[in-house]
Amino acid sequence: MEQSLMWQCDACGKEHDCVQKTSMLSPPQLLIIHLSRYPGSQLHNKKLVVTFPERGLIFPSHQERQERTKEYQLYALCDHKGSMSFGHYTAICRTSWTDDASNWMFFSDTMVKPYSLEEALGHHTAHILFYRAVN
Ligand SMILES: [Zn+2]
Repeated sequence: MEQSLMWQCDACGKEHDCVQKTSMLSPPQLLIIHLSRYPGSQLHNKKLVVTFPERGLIFPSHQERQERTKEYQLYALCDHKGSMSFGHYTAICRTSWTDDASNWMFFSDTMVKPYSLEEALGHHTAHILFYRAVN
């Protein structure tokens, strides 16, 4: 992930363009993706809509470290509806690793109900995605 920003230089005190870069050298067992869905200003009320896969997220192999490519599978997500100052969080979690598409549960405060993979993937207001490595 790369982000261009201005940086206050310690040596001359002026602002310079710089690139902040974050990279992972080793693919993790658990991959937790926190989505920042506010375009531009944090006060913006219109959040981006997201789509995400159940499987197929690939972490490329690292040539020098001779590590294998890792593939990830979704096992939970946190959904947020509302704005930065007001809203409601819900959780959608897989209950088993079988390929049965109905092995999900939806949690909203004291309400818990069975859910399907299709319903889980329909949460375009997802806020945090939880993946585990499958290989
Ligand atoms: Zn400088």
